[in-house]
Amino acid sequence: MSHKVSSCEVLVAGGGIIGAACARALALRGLRVVICEPGPEPAAASAASAGILGPQIERTDEALRALGLRARDLYDTLAAALSETTGIDIGLWREGIASLAFEEAEAERLRDAVAHQRQAGLRCDWLEPADVAERFPATAPCLGAMFAPEDGAVDAPALTRALLADAKRLATRTFATRVNRINTILGRVTGVEIPAGKIKAEHVVIAAGAWSTQIDHLPRPLPVEPVRGQMAAAPWPANMPRTVLYYDHSYVLARSGEAIFGSTMEHAGFDGSVTPAGIAEIMAAARRMLPHLPPVPTRTWAGLRPLTPDGRPIVGADPDVRGLWYATGHGRNGVLLAGLTGDIIASLITTGESEVEIASLAPERFTS
Ligand SMILES: Cc1cc2nc3c(=O)[nH]c(=O)nc-3n(C[C@H](O)[C@H](O)[C@H](O)COP(=O)(O)OP(=O)(O)OC[C@H]3O[C@@H](n4cnc5c(N)ncnc54)[C@H](O)[C@@H]3O)c2cc1C
Repeated sequence: MSHKVSSCEVLVAGGGIIGAACARALALRGLRVVICEPGPEPAAASAASAGILGPQIERTDEALRALGLRARDLYDTLAAALSETTGIDIGLWREGIASLAFEEAEAERLRDAVAHQRQAGLRCDWLEPADVAERFPATAPCLGAMFAPEDGAVDAPALTRALLADAKRLATRTFATRVNRINTILGRVTGVEIPAGKIKAEHVVIAAGAWSTQIDHLPRPLPVEPVRGQMAAAPWPANMPRTVLYYDHSYVLARSGEAIFGSTMEHAGFDGSVTPAGIAEIMAAARRMLPHLPPVPTRTWAGLRPLTPDGRPIVGADPDVRGLWYATGHGRNGVLLAGLTGDIIASLITTGESEVEIASLAPERFTS
């Protein structure tokens, strides 16, 4: 075998944003960690992501919203810590996201959402059309907007780089290889098989995004499906203040001088290509919000979200195989949930407990 170590305490299968966050959190607690990451895959989700931290603006169930709020609020500390230890700026921006209504039915849905969130004690406002025009001068006339002042965004590729760099600083090793299968004896993980041989591990964390299902010998089927998201970018118009705007499931955000437009939700298997129809769909939605945006993007790309049937990730222990952990299926919210997922997995592995309520993320919820 070409790799220099053939054993570790924790082996993380997958070096996207979730695997990186788990590895860093485990290494911070003093564990010897190895990440196996073959690529990344060209259609991996983390590099494709918009990086929106939107637990209030995204449509989710209550359990996921509670986790998302907690995850969002971790980013202030995480951004500062990563900047100090790695020198990488993860581009944390938290000046609020608005979801615009152009039809009466959507305005009603958003007004209800604002009322519901305010009742739950969250900061959230309904903006009348004149408020929207004043606050976001370049937007098309609309019927009003839901505004979540604490939602925001990060630069997802920078965050992934920073998490990996910090894990490396803490002695985590990365092997450029895929995990083919997990090995078990008598209901306990013993390690993994890779194309070049075997690696022994006391714990294995499955964090290979949409590809998690391709790892052999898992004790249960993982209902994680690739859902393609196409994206596009154009220069951010001069004189327009930095904003993040939603219209239904589409959004426009400013990042590093570009306007980023997203995104489709398509069941296209592992096909990570862009299509003229997909790009036309997201450009039309973006220009509905901001008519002065250029009609033709300067670049396009796509990524595969790892989505479960209920939209919540699978995070926790396998109930039948000791030492096997899942951190996958983060769907539309993997960047938001990355830091929190790392903390949960590290806490479970080191103490057997998590102070975060994770029953709604249990791996066995689809089979029991
Ligand atoms: C277009 C788009 C926009 C998005 N926007 C947002 C957003 O605004 N906010 C938000 O919170 N989330 C967003 N998401 C979702 C978020 O990006 C994902 O939930 C998150 O990136 C998932 O991270 P991951 O590490 O699980 O998966 P990935 O990033 O896909 O990483 C999985 C890794 O596993 C590796 N791998 C594959 N097979 C194996 C194997 N056999 N062994 C070992 N490793 C393997 C792959 O090479 C890959 O690097 C978006 C996703 C997409 C596609």
